[in-house]
Parts: sequence; C-alpha cells; structure tokens
Amino acid sequence: MKILISGASVAGPALAYFLHRDGHRVTVVERAPALRQSGWAIDFRGAVFKVLEELDILSEVRAHATGMTGTDVLDADGDKIDELPADVFSGELEVPKRDLTRILHAHTADAVRYVFGDSINRIEQDDSGVRVGFERADPESYDLVVGADGIYSVVRRLVFGPHAEAVHHLGLSGAGFSTANHLGLDHRGALWQQAPGRRAYLYSAADPDRMSVGFFFPTDSPALDLLGRAEQERALREHLAGGGWIVPRLLADMADASDFYFFSAAQVRIDHWSAGRVVLLGDAGYCASPTSGLGTSQALIGASTLARHLAQTGGDHTRAFEDYEWEMRPYVTENQERGRTGAERFAE
Ligand SMILES: Cc1cc2nc3c(=O)[nH]c(=O)nc-3n(C[C@H](O)[C@H](O)[C@H](O)COP(=O)(O)OP(=O)(O)OC[C@H]3O[C@@H](n4cnc5c(N)ncnc54)[C@H](O)[C@@H]3O)c2cc1C
Repeated sequence: MKILISGASVAGPALAYFLHRDGHRVTVVERAPALRQSGWAIDFRGAVFKVLEELDILSEVRAHATGMTGTDVLDADGDKIDELPADVFSGELEVPKRDLTRILHAHTADAVRYVFGDSINRIEQDDSGVRVGFERADPESYDLVVGADGIYSVVRRLVFGPHAEAVHHLGLSGAGFSTANHLGLDHRGALWQQAPGRRAYLYSAADPDRMSVGFFFPTDSPALDLLGRAEQERALREHLAGGGWIVPRLLADMADASDFYFFSAAQVRIDHWSAGRVVLLGDAGYCASPTSGLGTSQALIGASTLARHLAQTGGDHTRAFEDYEWEMRPYVTENQERGRTGAERFAE
C-alpha cells in the first residue's frame, strides 16, 4: 500500500520503519524545516523495550542514556529535604528526545521518503483512497493516511474535529530551556525544588557545561500553548515571581535561551482513533500528558501494534484499525489516569 504519515518525531518514523519492513511504500511529511531539536529528556518504562528491540535500536538508544542516578528534593529556600531514586524522573532508561528522533530518522531515511517543511491542509477520502492536499507540494492520493503529528495534529483537526473538542488541559503548564551549569550539576544529582504554586527541575547530562531547567506552574489557561514566546515568558514570570533560591537568576537566563520551549500538561481524548482510511497514532490520538512519563512508550508501542494488525489482517485497514484501538485502549486509559494524578501532584 501507499501510505502517508504526518509527523517525523517518534511515532511517525517508528511506524514508517515497520510499514517499510512489511512491504509498504511510505512517505513522511513533517512541518518543521528539519528534524526537531527538542530540549527535554524522555524516559522509557515497561513494555516499550521490546519495541526498541524490534526496531533494532535499543543498544544505540542506550548509548545516549542521561545516566541520572537520583534527585535531591529542595524546599522553597533551596535546602535539601529529601532524595528520590533515579526512576522517578528518569524511568528505566532516559535519553534526550533529539537523540531518539535522530536515531529513528537515520534508521529509516534510506527506505522512507521524508518531506520536511510541508503540511497536509486537505483530506478527502472515499472507498478507493485518500486524496491529500499540501501547503507546498501538489495533491496526491494514498491508500492510508496516519496522523502522528502530535497533540495539535492537523490530521485530527481535518478529519475528526476541532482541537477544543479533543485536547483537555490538566491545569498545569511549564517551560524548559538550557543555561550555563552554574550549579556544577552532574549526572549524580538532579534538583527538584518544590514550593507552593511552582516546581523547578534542574539537571545536567550530555554536556557538563550546560544545565537543563524546567519550570512548572498551575494555570487554567490552555490558550497559553498557542501564544508567542513573549506572552509565555510573561506568564512564567508572573507565576514564579517571588520565588526564592536561584529562581530569579534562572528567570533572567530564560530570556536569553535559544532553546526555550513551552508546554502544557494536556491529554487528547476522542471516541475513535480512526475514520475510514485515516488513523491517529501517538500524541495525536491519545496523548497522556508529559506528567504520565509514558508518552514516548505509548507512541512506540502504538506504532508496533498498528503495523502488526495491518500485517495480520493482510491490509484490511478497517479491521486492523479496530484491532489496534481495541488492544491499545486499556493501556492508554491507564496512562491517562497516571497523567492526571501526576498533573495534580505537580500543581499543588
Ligand atoms: C516537557 C516534556 C517532557 C516530556 N517527558 C517525557 C518523558 O519523560 N517520558 C515520555 O515517555 N514522554 C515524555 N514526554 C512526551 C513525549 O515527548 C511525547 O509523548 C512523544 O514525543 C509523542 O511522540 P509523537 O511522535 O506522537 O508526537 P510528537 O513528538 O509531538 O511529534 C509530532 C511531530 O509532528 C510534527 N507536526 C506537527 N504538526 C504537523 C503538521 N501539520 N504537519 C506535519 N508534521 C507536523 C511536529 O513537528 C513533530 O515533529 C514529554 C513531553 C514534554 C512536552
């Protein structure tokens, strides 16, 4: 079959690998002009290790492990009050997301056609196929289209309905960036500062001269995600104003950070993950929120499960999509519950 995947981060390239292996012709279209260099680290837990083996990238992924060995918990003044074992924040294995994305892309680049700097803007389907329009390229027809384009998926919006109906904000937002490692952190110790109404997480992994900073604060304003950096920084300053310890210095560093990113704890909850020849995968279909710590595992397990059902049903996409959802739903429901309780804890 000729299959189009929207999104070249985690879920998209992983699915592309499996579909090419099973004899399909695959194109991946990515809106960003090049592979994204997302600043945060992602962790792996549980059943996903089997998928990393299936993808034949486990040892390469392990080579990029952050190797964090634990976290010191600090109070509002920066005094240590507790310690957490490494798996709380870093799972069983943790790597910078950009390394995982790069590995998956390199692993598939020879077999799969990647188109960067473009986006789907129209989808029409009937019994025989899907006609897809693009912002830049000419329209083209495919047998199947997969939306692996994240929480604000264009495929979901065009086929399943507006973002407002699918994306549920969990009352927590945050931002991340890197700065000079002026605390001299190393992989032996991350820092987690808990103060009423805000959290800060600091660690240094790959580059000893740099420190990654994450801020979290409670907010009921989902629209912040879609605003520009200036408004997002202003919201952060408002919520973190009066923060003790080194928070003022970190806020000053934030203004100069070239790798600033903003995120919200949000979930995608929709009744069906497929409609005709179009199916959703990973965050696009069932984001569990960063506070679940399981979004990457879900994306990779989802890719493997979807490809397996397409192979098992001999390309009967209707049955394959139903079986994929039937198998994945309970796992996703559990992860979303975990994402909700995680967001509540972070927002205290
Ligand atoms: C701060 C933070 C920390 C996190 N920590 C963890 C963690 O510790 N453990 C964990 O498991 N997960 C974590 N996650 C979640 C994890 O990053 C996601 O669940 C995972 O990346 C989902 O992968 P995906 O491929 O489905 O979507 P994404 O990684 O969101 O990728 C979507 C891709 O689609 C592209 N795209 C978007 N729109 C279009 C379009 N119109 N056309 C074409 N392409 C498009 C995007 O550019 C992107 O490349 C974290 C997330 C955040 C924000």
